[in-house]
Amino acid sequence: MTSRKDTILKAAKRTAKQAHAAASKRGSKSRSRVGVEPHRHCSVCWKPISLESEPSICGDENCQEMFERREKSRKRFSFLMYFGIAIFVGLLALQIFMGASG
Ligand SMILES: [Zn+2]
Repeated sequence: MTSRKDTILKAAKRTAKQAHAAASKRGSKSRSRVGVEPHRHCSVCWKPISLESEPSICGDENCQEMFERREKSRKRFSFLMYFGIAIFVGLLALQIFMGASG
């Protein structure tokens, strides 16, 4: 008795094969890896790099340059921030001092 079930199973298998073929035809973008080892990413291009790389860039010249530029602007920004806080605190202290003295 070759049942209807058998035909359905065969058909299902065939469609699965077709789907698989279509998927692999579309270009195998690196999604096949499932188990991901511990790693970090280049802070510029997000390429996976080894955990030990310091600074966290991939070694590409462009990335290096970008990283340095970013670091510089970050330093400048933090300097400005501290400067602003200092001014704010100074003004606050001045206000308190003025208020206390009348
Ligand atoms: Zn990079």
